[in-house]
Amino acid sequence: MQTIGLIGGMSWASSLEYYRLINEAIRHELGGLHSAKCILFSVDFADVARMQHESSWAEATEILVEAAQKLQMAGASMVLLCTNTMHKLAEEIEARISIPFLHIADAIAAQVQAQGLRRVGLMGTRFTMEQAFYRQRLVDQHGLEVLIPEPVDRDEIHRIIYGELCQGLITPQSQARIIAIANRLAEAGAEGVLLACTELERLVGQAQAVVPRFDSTRIHAEAAVQRVLEGLRAAV
Ligand code: GLU
Repeated sequence: MQTIGLIGGMSWASSLEYYRLINEAIRHELGGLHSAKCILFSVDFADVARMQHESSWAEATEILVEAAQKLQMAGASMVLLCTNTMHKLAEEIEARISIPFLHIADAIAAQVQAQGLRRVGLMGTRFTMEQAFYRQRLVDQHGLEVLIPEPVDRDEIHRIIYGELCQGLITPQSQARIIAIANRLAEAGAEGVLLACTELERLVGQAQAVVPRFDSTRIHAEAAVQRVLEGLRAAV
C-alpha cells in the first residue's frame, strides 16, 4: 500500500480531520482491520500564520519545502498540503520533490465538474479568496466561474478562521454567519459553494445551505485514498 504524506498543523484541528477521513475511507474500501499508511509532518501554525500576515512567503516556502522533502525521504508516495491557503506555494513545493503533489484545488474542481456545475462561490481565508493563485487555477485550468463574497463577508470569514476555527472554537453564531454568507453567494448566482478552508466543514456540520457545498478537506483526503486504491489495483 502506498504511503500518504501529509503536511499538517495548519491548523492541527483540520489535520485531525484528514487523518480520520483517510482512515475511514480506507476502512470503507478495504474492510476489516485495514487502515491507511500515512506520515504526518505537522508544523507550528503560529510561525506560518505570522509569515502569511507579514507576506513572508519565501520563509514559509522553505518550511513547507523542507516538510515535503522530509516526507519524501521518510518514504511517502505522495504529498498532500493540508491547507488551501498555503497552496499559494504549491508550485515551489512541487518543483522540489519527485513524488506526486496532490493539489487541493484540482481535487475540488473535479468534484464540481462531476456534479455538472460551473459557477461556484469560494469561501476561505482572505488569501484564498482574494489572491489569484487559487481562483485563477479554478478558472484557467478547470473552466469554472468563481464568485467571492463581498469585502465585509470576506473579513468575517477570515476572522472566524483564524480567531476561532484554527484555535478549535466552534460556535453556533459563527456557523449561522458562514451559512448566511454561503446563501448570499447562492443568491448572487453560485450553483455550489467551495469550503476552501480545511476547517470550515467542522463548523458548518449538518447545517444546510441552499446550494451544494464542496468540503475541500474531505475531497482532498478522498483523492489521496483513490490514488492509494489505484496503486493497489495496479499491483494485482
Ligand atoms: N486551513 C485553512 C485553509 O485551508 C487556513 C489556515 C491556513 O492559513 O493555512 O486555508
